[in-house]
Amino acid sequence: MRALTFLARRFVAGDTVDDALEAVRALNADGIKATLDNLGEDSLTRAQALAAAEQNLLMLRRIAETGVDANISLKLTQLGLAFDEGLCRESLLKIVEEAARRKNFVRIDMEGSAWTQKTLDLFYSLHDAHPNVGIVLQSMLRRSEGDAREAAARGARVRLVKGAYKEPHAIAYPTKDEVNAAYDRCAALLAKAPLPAFGTHDDARIDAALKACDAAGLVKTDYEIQMLYGLRAKRWRELRAAGHTVRVYVPYGSHWFPYFYRRLRERKENLLFVLRNLFE
Ligand SMILES: Cc1cc2nc3c(=O)[nH]c(=O)nc-3n(C[C@H](O)[C@H](O)[C@H](O)COP(=O)(O)OP(=O)(O)OC[C@H]3O[C@@H](n4cnc5c(N)ncnc54)[C@H](O)[C@@H]3O)c2cc1C
Repeated sequence: MRALTFLARRFVAGDTVDDALEAVRALNADGIKATLDNLGEDSLTRAQALAAAEQNLLMLRRIAETGVDANISLKLTQLGLAFDEGLCRESLLKIVEEAARRKNFVRIDMEGSAWTQKTLDLFYSLHDAHPNVGIVLQSMLRRSEGDAREAAARGARVRLVKGAYKEPHAIAYPTKDEVNAAYDRCAALLAKAPLPAFGTHDDARIDAALKACDAAGLVKTDYEIQMLYGLRAKRWRELRAAGHTVRVYVPYGSHWFPYFYRRLRERKENLLFVLRNLFE
């Protein structure tokens, strides 16, 4: 287990918010922005959900105190969505208001499809009064093109990703080609929404998104390209050197296993990296 914890460090910036801020400082020095994520999902008790909310408030405070260029990302099941929607909304509102006071931004990550509609409903219930909150859409879900159209019409800030959760074929595209084609169609729709963010390590998807932004008349400061900590660091710098805004998702905390597992599942090179190092 200790070896695995060590290897997870490739994808996770450390145990504490201050460990993560160290990583953010290094990114900022290269002109790269960050979004901080306190790892954790599926809180089971009110105490866990409230502790997670406190961590998010702490992140906002530490970002302001240290002056780093970072916003935050969070998951609603960590704030109690699975067992108390009222509590979850209350905590989310508190975090979004605190972020607004500190001129910062909160991205609501998207989890498995059991939570998609509830996550969107909660997001839209805050969105009109709180422009500093954004959402994530997953191109693997058949519904997402409709959701992207709605987001563009309502002026919502969206991060577009392919989707990291295993979903049934009835609601999700079964092949990579279909997920990719849906990504490009959603990117074209979201180029008409405010400050779209394209979260992917896939050069073909980045190219399609850049073309869509260009066609929509956006300039390089009107959108972001986002990647995950530990993946394609050289590419972040190339994109930044070409003048694009690049933001890296920097997760930290002790509840790293589900996140780490998703990274191993989605790309065999990540799994090989871990296996090779374990055997060495
Ligand atoms: C900033 C960010 C936030 C995210 N937030 C969410 C979220 O809220 N909800 C969610 O479900 N998912 C989220 N994800 C994960 C996402 O859904 C995908 O699971 C993950 O990004 C892998 O898909 P991909 O688009 O990077 O490309 P993949 O389909 O994994 O890879 C496609 C191609 O990209 C290239 N490539 C990929 N990785 C590498 C690499 N390390 N080195 C070299 N080439 C590479 C290769 O050519 C590869 O064939 C997020 C991803 C990012 C980047």
